[in-house]
Amino acid sequence: MSESDQIEFTDEEYKDFFETNRVEPLAPRSRRLPRWARLLGLFVAAAMVSGGAFSLFEGVLTNPEIRDAAAIEAAAWDRANESPFGFLVSDIRVVPIENGTVAAFVTNNPPDGIIQIDFRPWSADRLDELMDHEIGHLIDFALWEPRDPERTNGLGTEAWAECSAVDAGTRRIDGFDPGGEYHCFDAELELYEAALGEVSEICQRWGSGECRTKEELGIGPDGLGPEGIPSLDDQ
Ligand SMILES: [Zn+2]
Repeated sequence: MSESDQIEFTDEEYKDFFETNRVEPLAPRSRRLPRWARLLGLFVAAAMVSGGAFSLFEGVLTNPEIRDAAAIEAAAWDRANESPFGFLVSDIRVVPIENGTVAAFVTNNPPDGIIQIDFRPWSADRLDELMDHEIGHLIDFALWEPRDPERTNGLGTEAWAECSAVDAGTRRIDGFDPGGEYHCFDAELELYEAALGEVSEICQRWGSGECRTKEELGIGPDGLGPEGIPSLDDQ
């Protein structure tokens, strides 16, 4: 991390608490939040838990069974460890994200492999989806320079991440939001799979620079294949 006291957000989730309320991208593409604000947020979160404000979320989310920050982090790591691309994840941090519509984000300025997840009650399924989407961003960051015109094989950044989650087996092919960014149509999934099919290996552009070959990752001509990533629950 640089000595700057600001973090540039180059990506964010806008997903709202409601599963179907995914129409409008509510947050700007790039925002800045001072580091002190994030640290303050940690204290606010602690106060929320002790003060009981956490219960405001109850009844809004579907099956929000994971409530404790450590449990959220552990469940997120479970999904990262299930994913063949999980080696791209250098850290997972559960922090309060002030914009309530942002569920998680990763940064690409420079990429660091850190997934930051909003401290809110999560269902296990939603958290898996979220992780597969964010890992999709890390695959993007690993494969291309941010300004590479070939980046994401012509897909929008969010379409790439969504298709990665579809390929992983958690998100569905989604035509619900044709005017927005957060979708993966059939043609987009094909572009995603074609791009992965060209890859011989994927390397971190951060951390140790660890690489995995396509064979090690289990990438075939159809991406990860129809099964996606097997869940620990299925084994
Ligand atoms: Zn995203």
